[in-house]
Amino acid sequence: MTLRFNNTLTRKKQEFKPIEQGRVRMYVCGPTVQGPAHIGHARTYIAFDVIRRYLEFKGYEVRYVMNLTDVHDDIIKVANKENKDMKEISEKFTKIFFRDLNALKIKSADVYPKVTETIEEIIDMINTLQEKGHAYEKDGSVYYKISSFADYGKFARIKLDDAKTGTRIDTDKYDKDSPMDFALWKKVKPGEPSWDSPWGKGRPGWHIECSAMSCKHLGEQIDIHGGARDLIFPHHQNEIAQSEGSTGKKPFVRYWLHTGFLNVNGEKMSKSLGNYIEVPDLIKDYDINAIRFFMLSTHYSSPIDFSKKSMEFAKNSLQRIQNFIFSLNNIDGLENEKISQKLEDAKERFMQAMDDDINTPRAFAVLFDLIKKINPLIKENKISSQNAKTVLEFFKEINSIFDFLEFEKQEISKEIESLIQKREQARQNKNYQEADKIRDELKRKGIILEDTPEGVKWKTRNGLF
Ligand code: AMP
Ligand code: ZN
Repeated sequence: MTLRFNNTLTRKKQEFKPIEQGRVRMYVCGPTVQGPAHIGHARTYIAFDVIRRYLEFKGYEVRYVMNLTDVHDDIIKVANKENKDMKEISEKFTKIFFRDLNALKIKSADVYPKVTETIEEIIDMINTLQEKGHAYEKDGSVYYKISSFADYGKFARIKLDDAKTGTRIDTDKYDKDSPMDFALWKKVKPGEPSWDSPWGKGRPGWHIECSAMSCKHLGEQIDIHGGARDLIFPHHQNEIAQSEGSTGKKPFVRYWLHTGFLNVNGEKMSKSLGNYIEVPDLIKDYDINAIRFFMLSTHYSSPIDFSKKSMEFAKNSLQRIQNFIFSLNNIDGLENEKISQKLEDAKERFMQAMDDDINTPRAFAVLFDLIKKINPLIKENKISSQNAKTVLEFFKEINSIFDFLEFEKQEISKEIESLIQKREQARQNKNYQEADKIRDELKRKGIILEDTPEGVKWKTRNGLF
């Protein structure tokens, strides 16, 4: 079976053939660390986490690089507003970003390069671009000369005339030959952080960092480059112009993959629109596994609509898989020869779905179909412990890709047990304030209490146990 990706470069589904057999060089545009990440960012990073894990599942050795934009107009703005320096702001939000990645079970990248650690390579690349006639200096700033790159606009499918009238490539007000040329190096302004360069003190423009970093950590040509759809133009178009312009090698990237947005009521979740939910706020209400399932239940390149209703639906769907897994423990029915055939069939269809541009919704449908076939057999005692083991093995294997399943019921910890008892005691003493305090504390720990006529019942946030 061959893996195929829908490649933004060609707008075609193409067989995946890496530069080096068995190895994948993968780069994903990371965040600008100016504030906490929201769940729109999480959508993109979970999608690429699963793409990376699937490549590993198929036996590839993946080198995964994600940049952290720690020098940017937006960070400087935040820093000035708070009367702090840029470094303080970027370090604070880098920590928060890693905390969130960790909470969401997103595997670490091999390298997280920062702009502040890549200045030398950035200056080298700008120098090369200047030598090759792709860049020019004006009053201490350096610009990319778009007209020097014949293919400019081809990747993003825009004509230069459209760009002139429609999209603004660069919002900077620096003096440049053409309004479309974008800044590679920006001359320092009062109160801004800066570095020495052949053009005087200044700092890099945004686009150049990804070209310099992917070259530094993965080489001049790479296999996969990812980001959300909004980065196709101008960011990724500019990366191509910079990388191919400086190395002279085409293509800079073999497969460009882009995620759809996470939307709220049809609008992109973003800080500027104010319709965003930060990662910890979602984790307060939903189990991480349910969040991962939700993010993957739509194809990575399609938009995904976030609502309480769609989250609840995802939570309940995952619960069906989870219940099935738990029901496979303690089985001792009769050996059923048909199980292995059903399993082989499901495995094949699962791989076909994933090979088809990582079609996770189709892969999930295969899992539900298998569950539907096996559930009645469990009820009728028609599967053996050996059968159950092989089915469980399959789910364990695929969980190395999705990481949203549990295989053992967690025992309620002594601490939680004693908190529940304390709350009961407080209620009996009519100390409702204390009782509510304990209920909230348990909620934070992921335990939901329900007071029923038969007494207090509890469950975890995703409804387990
Ligand atoms: P930023 O920090 O805004 O540069 O974003 C970092 C990455 O997250 C980029 O690849 C963005 O395109 C992506 N991103 C931002 N908002 C969303 C969203 N609502 N849905 C999906 N991806 C997003
Ligand atoms: Zn980038």
